[in-house]
Amino acid sequence: MAQVQLRFYEELNDFLPPALRKTTITYELTRRASVKDVIESFGVPHTEIELILANGRSVDFSYIVQAGDRISVYPMFEALDISPLIRLREKPLRELRFIIDANLGRLARYLRLLGFDTLYRNNYPDQEIARIAQQDRRIVLTRDRALLQHKSITHGYFVRSDKPREQVKEILARLDLYDHVHPFTRCLRCNGEMEDVEKHTVDHQLQPRTRQYYDRFRRCTACGQAYWRGSHFERMERLCEEFLIKRINDRD
Ligand SMILES: [Zn+2]
Repeated sequence: MAQVQLRFYEELNDFLPPALRKTTITYELTRRASVKDVIESFGVPHTEIELILANGRSVDFSYIVQAGDRISVYPMFEALDISPLIRLREKPLRELRFIIDANLGRLARYLRLLGFDTLYRNNYPDQEIARIAQQDRRIVLTRDRALLQHKSITHGYFVRSDKPREQVKEILARLDLYDHVHPFTRCLRCNGEMEDVEKHTVDHQLQPRTRQYYDRFRRCTACGQAYWRGSHFERMERLCEEFLIKRINDRD
């Protein structure tokens, strides 16, 4: 029987059953298969992968695996200098627009708070996420690895944490987004961009006490929601500070 040797590096091991992590895996080749098919048969989404080496040479997803191959699979955010080798995608992975899968609503709001263009509905069908991601070149953030196996999704990230605040810190760290943060530039409700406005233009939206104590206002250009520096704002400011502490728990 034809066999190949496979090894997954760094956080790609998160997707493997414990017995297969950080070890060389022997795979029985029962049919003609691309390296993408072989990798995804282990449940590792192709969007997580930056580089594949077959016998020390970089190959793309369509490479047909040969008996005796030694395949090394590296994650997209592995801090390896792979620039002399072929990357799997022509465009960088860091188009900073996101589309967020169902049930990650708080993550979506937090990313908007930090100024990231983030689409979210709690009822997106997978097909629609895949379509929008492709059309708008958005990075898909999901806790559903099957979604990331959609062929048309080229940029995606499997969110490990199930706690919203930890999810934000994880994404900032793993995608190295710290230099792209612009807090309070996007509407938390609808993802619209915010603009400074004169008080009288939002006057009708204000409670009497807000009208009395605040003079500077911003407004969402899409849905019209007004924002001001009230107590809610201060909470949000503290949250931003918490997110921007550049630390993430070591995974290993
Ligand atoms: Zn809005």
